Amino acid sequence: METEEKSLKKAVLWEPDKDKKVRCKLCSHRCVIDERKVGRCNVRKNIDGVLYSLTYDKVCSANPDPIEKKPLFHFQPGTRSFSIATMGCNFQCDFCQNWQISQAAIENGQIDGEPITPEQIVEAAVRNGCKSIAYTYTEPTVFMELCNDCGRLAKEKGLKNIFVSNGYQTIEAIDFAKDWLDGINVDLKAFSEDYYKRLCKARLQPVLDTISYIANQTNIWLEITTLLVPGENDSDDELKKIAEFIVTKANPDVPWHISRFYPQYKYLDSVPTPLESLERAYDIGRAAGLHYVYLGNVPGVKSENTFCYKCGRTLIERMGYKILANHIKKSCCPDCNTKIAGFEL
Ligand code: SF4
Repeated sequence: METEEKSLKKAVLWEPDKDKKVRCKLCSHRCVIDERKVGRCNVRKNIDGVLYSLTYDKVCSANPDPIEKKPLFHFQPGTRSFSIATMGCNFQCDFCQNWQISQAAIENGQIDGEPITPEQIVEAAVRNGCKSIAYTYTEPTVFMELCNDCGRLAKEKGLKNIFVSNGYQTIEAIDFAKDWLDGINVDLKAFSEDYYKRLCKARLQPVLDTISYIANQTNIWLEITTLLVPGENDSDDELKKIAEFIVTKANPDVPWHISRFYPQYKYLDSVPTPLESLERAYDIGRAAGLHYVYLGNVPGVKSENTFCYKCGRTLIERMGYKILANHIKKSCCPDCNTKIAGFEL
């Protein structure tokens, strides 16, 4: 082992395979990795038959963000979440909005970042008045070791932990995290295998399995986001399938965020999502029975607000990431007393 490699953090969730290979069990790619090679995410390396994280002490982003930015709208609304990332991802989305930090490791092996310890991260979260730590901007599953150490420590200090994720982690990975993971926003990017394969180099089914598992087998608060890409995932039929899946396989109380797309990275021959498409998706979500549907990346529209799904009363008024007013009383609508699902509303 070379000197620099001696300080690497041993990975979690893998098993030895024949000929000094290892099998990573963190995400649904389930890479079998040869000696001295890395997995598809390029940030987990097999050294002498042992799997290591290459990013544990390389934090590339750290900001106190409004929790609404994740987005989580039904989880400690109006609070700040100390948001961190390391470089790397297990997806290769052509339209990635954070490609500078998520794709550099895959494209050219670049892994930049500062050696910030879990203790320092938790301390910074408290100092900045945050009520949670968010593992976000890139895919947290591929830096699970840092999330785990930080998450456990955060819990001891009374902070919550949040993932913003593509939902490609294995069931083993969710079970590994569920003692300290309190909330998650999962991207359900589309409802077709072709879309996931062509545009993300991944598969749809594991994401559906993750969503169902989180909703039905854990106490982790779940919200879902779909980035609406014109001509790719915005047909009535596909949107209906997404909404019906959330209602039947997760829960009608799971908030669905429909987000406006802007051309990015390799996906530049497109226009931003027209407002009419977003509004059509909103109506499809409500008609399917979802209680809470939101439009994202379009500050100022009415559908950023939370409404009581029974009587229609405006409950939380928003402008972008800012809460203008929260009328919820003891987690209930003040007019008709309907329970509003969420965490510390
Ligand atoms: S986390 Fe990385 S190494 Fe592990 S299975 Fe996923 S892509 Fe492969």
